[in-house]
Amino acid sequence: MATLSTLQQADIQHFIHPFTDSKTLGEKGTRIIERAEGVYLWDIEGRKLLDGMAGLWCVNVGYGRQSIVDAVSKQMQQLPYYNSFFQCTHPPAIELAKTIAELAPAHMNCVFFTGSGSESNDTNLRMVRRYWDLKGQPTKKTIISRDNAYHGSTVAGASLGGMSGMHKQGDLPIPGIVHIAQPYWYGEGGDLTPEAFGLQAAQALEAKILELGEENVAAFIAEPFQGAGGVIIPPSTYWPEIKRILAKYDVLLILDEVISGFGRTGCWFAAEYFDLKPDLISIAKGMTSGYVPMGGVIIADRIAEVIKNQCGEFTHGYTYSGHPVAAAAALENIRIIVQEKLVEKVATETAPYFQSRLQQLAEHPLVGEVRGIGLVAAIELVKDKSLRQRFNSDIGVGTWCRDLCIEHGLVMRSVGDTMIISPPLTISLAQVDELIEKAIKALNDTYAKCMV
Ligand code: PLP
Repeated sequence: MATLSTLQQADIQHFIHPFTDSKTLGEKGTRIIERAEGVYLWDIEGRKLLDGMAGLWCVNVGYGRQSIVDAVSKQMQQLPYYNSFFQCTHPPAIELAKTIAELAPAHMNCVFFTGSGSESNDTNLRMVRRYWDLKGQPTKKTIISRDNAYHGSTVAGASLGGMSGMHKQGDLPIPGIVHIAQPYWYGEGGDLTPEAFGLQAAQALEAKILELGEENVAAFIAEPFQGAGGVIIPPSTYWPEIKRILAKYDVLLILDEVISGFGRTGCWFAAEYFDLKPDLISIAKGMTSGYVPMGGVIIADRIAEVIKNQCGEFTHGYTYSGHPVAAAAALENIRIIVQEKLVEKVATETAPYFQSRLQQLAEHPLVGEVRGIGLVAAIELVKDKSLRQRFNSDIGVGTWCRDLCIEHGLVMRSVGDTMIISPPLTISLAQVDELIEKAIKALNDTYAKCMV
């Protein structure tokens, strides 16, 4: 059996990790996760960790679900692969499209399958442009997104995203994609109230549409709350104003629910939580709880009718669009969420408890703000609470805190000095207590380290 050091050496030699500075692998070594059950992970040294991130915001039903393993194994034996191109398909993909249409907002009844969230957003870009072409408005091509958004890592996904670090690598964004400011009140709201700042941030969309000309704007893409950007939850005034603007200029709404879909906010989709009527919804992650890769786009009737009836061949698709094994995993994952009433449980029980316990952390001297909805939250680490003053980013206080969390048996993610929590939806109230206690210990240790 491979030992820890031989595995780590092979990792450093042969494996270029996503979103990782390879030098740190050499300096710190890799944390190798070997198995998982429920909300817990075990690393190769036997250390037990509470997974406060559900993997990468995706393991909604928790680890170790035998019924998903069985569904996948059965499907592999019966039909491990077939495509959905050229008038073919197979039962799992059909059943999954119907199931998702039943769960989605009432005006959305079709699904296009992809292999990931990034591919879903690439699909959106091509679909909205094709839609406007077919509607006789071919100049409506530009997509407006937001700074610091994350919409994936493909060329279109990273261009739609607003992360400057990603744009710098690979000469992005591609033409036809522009960005406006994000609704990040804590970081950028200055002296404005959250409500006034939310309105101002939304009105940046109107200003951009007017600058470009409404006849040139195809769509606005946004996460309901920005996930990888640091769980940025727009002030209450933001989405109603965005809705008004989109309706006024007939600009489509692409809602990226790759993180928020499948129960995280206590609704099946955050569209419901924020009272939105999107034209397209990107999905992935919680669709299969990450057991098998899969993504998709849920399509409003207004768009689907045009694509179905006027488009001819929609020249777009992936070898693994609607993959039967992934579809079988998704169907079983959704069956579990329904049967265990996980969405209702998050809304009425787990999220209220989680959010109220989190507020305790707001009193910590290192914590500037705690914000969250449903089972997702951010903790801002600051040098001076009253001034909302941050630490020098070179120090890496967030990384200290992340590493200290691991020492206390908890996985939290750091985005700069913002700590992120997004546990499996199956987390129990006792496990929420455990998570908070571990987080407090890590915050205390981080604070002590900052004071040296
Ligand atoms: N959109 C959002 C909001 C995401 O958070 C992510 C991934 O984290 C993506 C898209 C990209 O999904 P994938 O990594 O499956 O391509």
